[in-house]
Amino acid sequence: MYHDSRERAERRAGRVVGRKEALDRFPSIEPHVWTEADAQFPVRLPRGWMEQVEHPDDPMGLQALPGPGELADAPGDLLDPVGEDGRSPLPWIVRKHADRVLLLVTRRCHMYCRYCFRRNHTGPDDPDDAALAESLAYIRTSGARELILSGGDPLAVTDARLAHILDAVQDSIPIIRIHTRAPITAPQRVTEALVSMLRQRAPVWVIVHCNHPRELSASVLTALGRLVDAGIPVLNQAVLLRGVNDNVDTLAALCEQLVAARVFPYYLHHTDAAAGNNRFRVGVEEGLAIYDALSRRVSGVALPQYVIDPPDGSGKIPVSEWARRSRPGR
Ligand code: SF4
Repeated sequence: MYHDSRERAERRAGRVVGRKEALDRFPSIEPHVWTEADAQFPVRLPRGWMEQVEHPDDPMGLQALPGPGELADAPGDLLDPVGEDGRSPLPWIVRKHADRVLLLVTRRCHMYCRYCFRRNHTGPDDPDDAALAESLAYIRTSGARELILSGGDPLAVTDARLAHILDAVQDSIPIIRIHTRAPITAPQRVTEALVSMLRQRAPVWVIVHCNHPRELSASVLTALGRLVDAGIPVLNQAVLLRGVNDNVDTLAALCEQLVAARVFPYYLHHTDAAAGNNRFRVGVEEGLAIYDALSRRVSGVALPQYVIDPPDGSGKIPVSEWARRSRPGR
């Protein structure tokens, strides 16, 4: 994945940490684990992110570095954890609701988060021109009011390709959301040129993905501020992750620091049970207890909704409702 000319330029510029450098720095990672995990789901380490890693098992290391737990089957593993396969009228489209449509812009990312629920996708990294045209034609006649650009990371493609997509649907879809982790994992991607292009195509909302306050480095805060200063609404989605943010102190610090950065903490996602991410999963009852403590700790503006995207493909619901549905005798 991600072997285009931009990738080569990034490696030449030293913006990505390679295998040898990472294994020299963290000798506890076994080379065969790296090789096998990388073959299943690529390992890609942005240097800015890696500067925050002190140990492979700290909150930053766990999200980025491969571990042996990825290689073992675990109870509850699902290949389609949020039920997208049955809701995909075209290969790069997901449609769970009448008023919304989701386009997978690419499968490439600046960093491949080891818990990702789309970690088991196969096939090409990007739609070819014909597949993209077919997807855009579907979107234009879909009747949806919101288009969600997802992936992979929609900001892993060029500004020109992104502008092409936005321009192709602008007259048909009133609101566009870009779901991206790039402002967090590759803040240099948020250039003045990108922001200007998005501002010219308002209303475009940007939904970022930050899980731990240590991700909010100075360069990340600059990238987020650049978007907000341009009048682009910015919201955050976090995922509740074992060993990363599965305690109220970390989540409260994250949410309060996001609000200080003028980013609304929109969702806290229950971890989806993708094959290979077992080490990150938190139980439903434990998650609800952490969320209950968070709701009593932070103000309303800093409190995300705790949601789950169930495997039946019906779309996100509050975890409290999911727990009620799942209890015996209901
Ligand atoms: S950036 Fe998003 S899509 Fe890409 S690996 Fe991370 S969680 Fe998955």
